[in-house]
Amino acid sequence: MSPVEPLESAAPPAADKSRFRFQKLLQPFTRERAIVVPILWFLLDWVVLGAAIASLLVVDPWWVKVFASLVAALWIARLFVIGHDACHGAYTPSKTLNVWIGRIAFLPSLTPYSLWEIGHNLAHHGFTNLKGRDYVWTPYSPEEFARLPWTRRQLERIYRSGVGQGVYYMVEMWWKKLYFPGRKHVTSRRASYTFDSLLVTAFGVLWIGGLIAWGGHSGRSIVSLLVFGFAVPFFLWNCLMGFVIYVQHTHPRVAWYERRDEWSANAGYATTTVHVKLRRPFDGLIHYILEHGAHHVNMGVPLYRLKAAQARLSATLDERLNSEVFTWRYYWNTVRRCKLYDFAQHVWTDFDGRITSTPVVQTR
Ligand SMILES: [Zn+2]
Repeated sequence: MSPVEPLESAAPPAADKSRFRFQKLLQPFTRERAIVVPILWFLLDWVVLGAAIASLLVVDPWWVKVFASLVAALWIARLFVIGHDACHGAYTPSKTLNVWIGRIAFLPSLTPYSLWEIGHNLAHHGFTNLKGRDYVWTPYSPEEFARLPWTRRQLERIYRSGVGQGVYYMVEMWWKKLYFPGRKHVTSRRASYTFDSLLVTAFGVLWIGGLIAWGGHSGRSIVSLLVFGFAVPFFLWNCLMGFVIYVQHTHPRVAWYERRDEWSANAGYATTTVHVKLRRPFDGLIHYILEHGAHHVNMGVPLYRLKAAQARLSATLDERLNSEVFTWRYYWNTVRRCKLYDFAQHVWTDFDGRITSTPVVQTR
């Protein structure tokens, strides 16, 4: 994996007429940012997360603990999605409010705000599925995979097994790129990176320390409190996040590129995103994060207008977009076929290099 480029060298991709045309198409939705309702959602999500964790301090039946842990994991994810929106400056009309809502909404997922901003807003959005710039679920080529050490090859098999997304996100994204990342992964150094890493550390210490202190005070099992009150929600959040970012840009019909000119010529900014359609109420339960095509075309559309923006985009750009109604059959088909990517022929292959998709790009 390549390191995140420093801000200075992360220039926007060459002007692409169609990109700006579609960006403009969704521009009216960016003017529909509200202030009161988004703040209420943000506060309400904190209340639900707080209540789920607090209930774990007093309940005894194991099934209630499991349920509260699942709720906590989902609400960590919901707050993260609000933070993601705010970090794009889309959540409310106020820049200052967005920055602080973003920072605070990221705390339960222990996501340092400024490091997320550079890796996501610039590298991922600027160069989606362009190897060397976008590092989210970047596939190895069969040749690269063959050269990897045995242990790394096994790890890749786990990551892409269909149930390994949590381990992938925690190790490859959070640990390597977001939480006190080394120079190998993020080349630039900024005071804000250290500040935000320290901020989430302080939050984590309060969270874990609070559970231990309560265990000591109440005589309840500290291990049980830490497992259900921290470890399970945090790990499940990683699973959810790893899963979401996998389905958003990995699909047998979705290409990866290693050449910038090829990426531009094939409108990589729009054609590498999958619009995964979820039925109500599941779409709203994760704050519409899977209405992802519209988000990639115009990052300024607030999450509560994404559904309408996606409908407008699909009506206009349908033949170039990838969409899927979510089913487990579709999901496992993608998992089975998308293991490695042949960048010369533009086909997905399995781990033995056998071709598993038809060519997704005709150029070269
Ligand atoms: Zn984004």
